[in-house]
Order: sequence, then structure tokens, then C-alpha cells
Amino acid sequence: MKAAVVRDFTKPLEIEDREVPAPAPHQVLVRIECSGLCHTDIHAAHGDWPVKPSPPFVPGHEGVGIVEAAGPDVRHVKVGERVAIPWLADACGRCDYCVTGWETLCLAQHNSGYSVDGAYAEYALAHGDYVVPVPEGVDPMDAAPLSCAGVTTYKAVKLAGARPGTRVLISGIGGLGHLALQYARIFGAETVAVDITDDKLKLAEDLGADHVVDARIQDVAHEVQKLGGADGAVSLAVSNASFRAAYDSLRRGGTLALVALPAEGELTLPVFETVLNGTKVVGSIVGTRQDLAEVFRLHQLGRTKVIRETRKLEDVNACFEDVLAGKVSARLVFDLR
Ligand SMILES: [Zn+2]
Ligand SMILES: [Zn+2]
Repeated sequence: MKAAVVRDFTKPLEIEDREVPAPAPHQVLVRIECSGLCHTDIHAAHGDWPVKPSPPFVPGHEGVGIVEAAGPDVRHVKVGERVAIPWLADACGRCDYCVTGWETLCLAQHNSGYSVDGAYAEYALAHGDYVVPVPEGVDPMDAAPLSCAGVTTYKAVKLAGARPGTRVLISGIGGLGHLALQYARIFGAETVAVDITDDKLKLAEDLGADHVVDARIQDVAHEVQKLGGADGAVSLAVSNASFRAAYDSLRRGGTLALVALPAEGELTLPVFETVLNGTKVVGSIVGTRQDLAEVFRLHQLGRTKVIRETRKLEDVNACFEDVLAGKVSARLVFDLR
């Protein structure tokens, strides 16, 4: 099978011909149809973050495909079923986080395309209990970005407290932000979309943002405070300045949900204002299997639209360069069919 492999953090990925792996008793073998490119894959391939993967490894945690074989202990999915392989490859299932709906915080978790091989390949192994079924009628090319970009923003918008009567700022309308904006609207919030490129500001308008702020020429916090401030802000732009602008846009009691992970991310906060204003700052990492099932259901009902572009796995290195150069305005999805 064909796989894109990271052998060295300083070198391009190599397209290799590998043996199709055999599933362990708890695993499924998934024939990958589509695999989304998440910015995290680039950080993984470059070893950017404090906790690094160990080369050689196959990136990819937006994998969607058909279960081709299942080990004898797999009970919840069947051969022939379409499933998603998300970032949470598996967790212990027993710790306090796992049993209270916070499996994404489990200290014993493994992560697809990071600590275990991911979905930049024609086949991938996955834990039978941690793949998420993709419902009938959901295009696998849409399901791929929903498996990380979708579930991550869905969770962050929930944590930011979006509901009717609230105002929610979405900072960065790219692969994640265009979905965050749609979820904030689904939850009934008034939405403020912030970006620095014309096409993304236009996309925000097309998706129904109530307010659009161009951070190149407008003072984001000033504009949002003129509206009365934001109850919630979701930080998706990879820039330290945008984090602070989102924080400064909050009204009293507001929540800033941090999602984007720049290699050198820092946010300096004034303690006085944070205390006086009762501001909450939370980190939000992906979402649970249940969150992803909800994301798929909303898409099945026609409530969300995924903006994406199709690419070939062989072009993975060029795709990374395009993403880093800010040349793509949508989620890139490798079509392996
Ligand atoms: Zn991701
Ligand atoms: Zn656990």
C-alpha cells in the first residue's frame, strides 16, 4: 500500500510502498477513502511541538474509509461500515477523565498520525472502539475535515458558551473557522467573524456572519466592544496578536477558548482585568467520540457546509508548502479512492 511517511523532521515526506498491516484483536483495518490535511500534521512532520512524534511515522487524523477487516474483539463496528479515524486514536477508558466525558484529556491516550500511524495511507489500523461511524448520506470528502476541523470547533464553540442571546467572536475563518462560524450560528449566537484576507471575509459573509471585522484595517477589540463585547471568543488564527485581540474583545464574564497552536504560542494576560472582569480562558483540544457523532449528524441533516479542495497524496509536500504559504482558503483533502 501507498503511505506518506515522515522519516526526518527536517526532510520532506516520502511516499513509500508498505505492507498492508493486519489488525490486532481490538483493531480494525480501514481502507482509506479520504484523508484531510490538518495544520497539526505539518507540526508533527516538522517536530514543532514540545512533545514530538517518533519517526518514521505516518501522519493524518482526518481519515475516513471502509472497515475491511476486524479483529475478533471488535464489537461496535462491522466490516463494510464507513468510519472516521480521528485524533483520539484510543484512551484508557477507565480513568476519571474517560468516564466523565473528558476522554480527550486521558493521560494514557494515543493520537492518530502522531503517537500511532495515521491516515496518510491507503490503509490504516485503528482501535475498533474509537473509530466513529460516518452516517449514510455524509460524503466521505466532507467527513474527513469534520473529523478534526469540525469536531474541534464544535467543542470549542460549546466551551465558549454559544447559545441564543450571546455574541461569539470567531477569530480566523479558515479550515477550522468556517465551521466554527456555522456551529456558533447553529447554537443561536450572534456572530462576529475576524480575518485578514478578502476571500475569507467574503466566505464569512456568505456563511451568514452577523458582523465581519478585517483585522488588517480595523481594531478588532474596539469594533467588538462597540457591539457590547463578546460573551465567547474562539481563537483559531495562528498568531499571538490575534489571541490578545480576542481576549480584549470579551465582555465581563466572557470566555476565551484557545484552539490554534502556533509553534511559539504565548498569551500574556493582565491579572487585574482578568480578575475584575471574571474572564475565563480555556484550552480546547479536539472533541469526544460523542461530539464527533453530533457533528456528523448535523452534517447529515444538511446544517453545515464543508469548504474543501481535493488533492493527491503524492502531492503532500507541495500541499504542506501551500498551507504554510497561506495559499489555500479551504481544507485540503487527499482523495485515495
Ligand atoms: Zn487536526
Ligand atoms: Zn483515560
